[in-house]
Amino acid sequence: MSDYVKWIQEQLQALGYDPGPVDGVNGEKTDAAIRLFQKENDLAVDGQVGELTHSALIQARSMIDLKMDQDGKLLLKNFTEDEFTCECGCGLDVCDRLKAFAQRLRDQFGWPLVISSGARCPTVNAAVGGVPDSCHLTGQAFDCYFPGQMNEAVMAQMADDAISQEIGVIRYPNQLFCHFQVPPRNQIIY
Ligand SMILES: [Zn+2]
Ligand SMILES: [Zn+2]
Repeated sequence: MSDYVKWIQEQLQALGYDPGPVDGVNGEKTDAAIRLFQKENDLAVDGQVGELTHSALIQARSMIDLKMDQDGKLLLKNFTEDEFTCECGCGLDVCDRLKAFAQRLRDQFGWPLVISSGARCPTVNAAVGGVPDSCHLTGQAFDCYFPGQMNEAVMAQMADDAISQEIGVIRYPNQLFCHFQVPPRNQIIY
């Protein structure tokens, strides 16, 4: 019995696969479910949960509770579309995975979350002094804070949660906001 196998079984079950009983034992059904998940996610089908399969499981789970409207647009409980799009009105938007993460933060902490910077086209990115290869340029980053709640402990919790979701984080302790991005790049900067 292994806690990690149990975790894998939980993820597979939540995703609609049948790993058999969630008992931490890597039996035939669990093996088959892992292989099916790998096949459906264009991963090497070897029944082993290595780094890539592990990441794919986390990503699949982070998307599962999302609701889309009939046009395939993401519906979020506490955010409107324009909170993430580029401020100049060009329409550049943040990717669904990060929007879902913003909603997750909102739910977990229970406080209103202000998106201080979302997607940025080159003009806007230059105007706000963003780095030239900023993830904001492709809608793969956003900055945010909980008004009146930001301190070191809260920022550490936000960072830990991002890391658990394989989302990159940069903390700005002086300005009291966090930057989140996908992909997390090679290292996550605390
Ligand atoms: Zn723009
Ligand atoms: Zn940022």
